[in-house]
Amino acid sequence: MRIGIDLDGTIADNLELLVQTMNHYCSKDLCGEEIYQYNLCEVYNIKEEQFIQLMEEKEEEIIIKSPIISFASESIHKLVLEGWEVHIITARSPRYQGATEKWLQEKEIPFTGLHLLDSHNKLEICQQLGVKLMVEDNIHNAYQLNGGGIPIILFDAPHNRHWPWQGIRCKSWQEIYSFVKNHRFCP
Ligand SMILES: [Mg+2]
Repeated sequence: MRIGIDLDGTIADNLELLVQTMNHYCSKDLCGEEIYQYNLCEVYNIKEEQFIQLMEEKEEEIIIKSPIISFASESIHKLVLEGWEVHIITARSPRYQGATEKWLQEKEIPFTGLHLLDSHNKLEICQQLGVKLMVEDNIHNAYQLNGGGIPIILFDAPHNRHWPWQGIRCKSWQEIYSFVKNHRFCP
């Protein structure tokens, strides 16, 4: 049975580096907890072209330097041992394939598939793969996937806390693991 797992904000803790980068660019001093929505252009009041240009310059460095979220590696290892096939499904561009693979290897994340979509539209790949469950922190992706019939565990983050969500919300990888193990989902 397949589980889909998002990367940024779910396995890789990129929020603080992203906020530092944005603060520097915009001469502001926000902290991660103040990022109340996923769209940083709106949070920082900049144009999308500016954000795209900034990410052209900084994204690879953020990818390389992001720490791993606590207990992600251990929990994903346990899921694999219990029979889950792990597919990492990310909106990152395929140009970061090498940096992403290196990071996943360094952080000892086991996976069968790595899908760099260069898009936030994850529904098609989830349906193609037949993922039984997706772990995701982007509330907009969660809405879309949920609407398409993919069960979601929403990974809690400052940018998704203020949006309505009737489904499962987990604050840690221990919680995610316990939920998968103890509830409806069996590989
Ligand atoms: Mg994410």
